[in-house]
Amino acid sequence: MTTSTVSAPPSLPGVADSVLDLIGETPVVRLRRLAPEGGAQVLVKLEGSNPGGSAKDRPALSLVRHAEATGALPPGAPIVESTSGNTGIGLALVGRVTGHPVVIVHGGAMSPEKLALLRLYGAELVEADWTAGPEDPGNPRAVADRIALERGGWRSQQYDNPANPDAHYRYTGPEIWRQTGGAITHLVAGIGTGGTISGAGRFLREVSDGRVRVIGANPEGSAYGGGAVGPVRVEGVGTTWPSSHWPKNLDRSVPHEIRTIEDAVVFDTVARLAAEEAILVGPSSGLAVGVALQVAADLDPDAVVVAIAPDSATNYLGLLAR
Ligand code: PMP
Repeated sequence: MTTSTVSAPPSLPGVADSVLDLIGETPVVRLRRLAPEGGAQVLVKLEGSNPGGSAKDRPALSLVRHAEATGALPPGAPIVESTSGNTGIGLALVGRVTGHPVVIVHGGAMSPEKLALLRLYGAELVEADWTAGPEDPGNPRAVADRIALERGGWRSQQYDNPANPDAHYRYTGPEIWRQTGGAITHLVAGIGTGGTISGAGRFLREVSDGRVRVIGANPEGSAYGGGAVGPVRVEGVGTTWPSSHWPKNLDRSVPHEIRTIEDAVVFDTVARLAAEEAILVGPSSGLAVGVALQVAADLDPDAVVVAIAPDSATNYLGLLAR
């Protein structure tokens, strides 16, 4: 009797077995022209270098792997998520490689470039009302819950699932520590689900014995900053919901402070990063770098401020190239 086994081809040095192996280890670059004279140096971690184009590839992989391991996501079962974009793209990518169909519930506000990417990855798109409040059955989270129930799908629960901040605690934070040789003094990150700031921030506070200061970057209109609440124009960050409904993944004990800057400063920072530093990033990166530049202006030159740039300008060319 013969047995046939399907064996994987031998691995080759320097070759990834799938795009999942290309997630993380993103580069960090120093600002040469924008950093304030006499102030701290400002470094930018370019999460747009991930294969799906954003920081969200990290939690997407972590969430799916965790759900597969616990049995919450059986082989071939659909992944259902409500998202402003990048988590959907990350899940669509991870779903494609791991054999799960992906359903994305989105609000009308998503950039056409991100919608196009989701379609290219073969995700199913469902539109819901992003302005509907937490108790409204028409809000994207409620719609995603309903679809998951109907189709036996798994909800990644990126707002509440600890596998999201865990990806940043285990990888993003340690990478920054290693890449700066432990010299980082300040971390600046925008807040959407809170996964990045809570995970990377907690790691960096712990590893530095409390020396690293963690600063949340908040856009105009978002309630995270404690100011006036209104429309949020920076995609992927901020909330208009009351604090009783903020994500569990936002560990409010991690950021030392949260600073709000105006949209005009955010978009001006995006434009200057491209024109003066040749660094292409999206609006939420302009937010983090804009806050980092303000923080750096008040510090000595031996301080090292690291801003997280969650994605690249290529996700927003229609919006930015006006
Ligand atoms: N910027 C962009 C473009 C995003 O998609 C997200 C994720 N929603 C964030 C920033 C915020 O990251 P987090 O969810 O980890 O707080």
